[in-house]
Amino acid sequence: MTVQPRLDLDAVYGRMRDSLTPVEWKLIVPVVEEIHRLKAERNAVILAHNYMKPEIFHGVADIVGDSLALAQKAVGTEADVIVMAGVHFMAETAKVLNPHKVVLMPDMRAGCSLADSITAADVRALRAKHPGVPVCVYVNTSAEVKAEADICCTSGNAVKIVEAIAAETGSDSVLFLPDKYLAAYVQSQTKVKIIPFDGACEVHEQYSASDITSIRADYDGDITVIAHPECPSEVIGAADFAGSTAQMADFVAKEKPARVLLITECSMGDNLIAANPAVEFVRSCHMCPHMKRITLDNIAASLRTLEPRVEVPAHLIERSRASVERMLSVGR
Ligand code: SF4
Repeated sequence: MTVQPRLDLDAVYGRMRDSLTPVEWKLIVPVVEEIHRLKAERNAVILAHNYMKPEIFHGVADIVGDSLALAQKAVGTEADVIVMAGVHFMAETAKVLNPHKVVLMPDMRAGCSLADSITAADVRALRAKHPGVPVCVYVNTSAEVKAEADICCTSGNAVKIVEAIAAETGSDSVLFLPDKYLAAYVQSQTKVKIIPFDGACEVHEQYSASDITSIRADYDGDITVIAHPECPSEVIGAADFAGSTAQMADFVAKEKPARVLLITECSMGDNLIAANPAVEFVRSCHMCPHMKRITLDNIAASLRTLEPRVEVPAHLIERSRASVERMLSVGR
């Protein structure tokens, strides 16, 4: 995770020069400057997910990272206003952890197919069907679903969390909801019996093992393939490494592969180029339509008006916060 410095236009453009032409940069400079000015006036902080476009990720964000990093950094921020450059469940998590702060979601339509795949009633029905089995929900869920869970997890800590909650409750199985592909990946890494649900990420499930085979053939095998664990098992099996977006970034920085294919959302590679100039990023990606609803223009508008705000009903805050904080406490 990186805490971005305050405005230095040359330095800012330097980090996105591989993704934006000088003309494109010139066109967005006024809104970038306005956002920085508004942030100072509002005492606001912008949290940006790794899937944000480079002009957001490198241009205006204060804190960047994966869902886990954003949740951790949302705790105890001294800002009065949090702008979530991500999707709705991330803004809800920020609100749950900072109930007295203003949390802005620049476009309320930025949802998530995983979060939409399960309801609180589904979780209650599964508990009734599997009495005594602890419930671990992916952070990509609504606050009302988190409120029904024993603990949350992210793709970066899922195995650790499943093993921790199983040990703590003395259970040999864990209900793992809602991503069936992440559930299969966790099952491949642990002896705890995973009981899955039928959710999926509409972006990562589009990949197939044959995509990887054909790209490897294009480069005579001279390419390192890294897949997100929200991908189908056959894709993870065909990759060289699987990990969350933060783990992907760490892998690239540490291993410095000459050429890499990231099997995840398109902006991930764009955002890693600046920190890894010697690595060739091969582009074959799928875009998340929800993440792409967040733009510089709607970030600026939300800071101007302090709307739209994400609110979480008081009766859900305490229970959903308990499952998020239980996750954050594992490994502390
Ligand atoms: S990439 Fe998939 S999991 Fe992430 S926000 Fe988009 S739909 Fe949800």
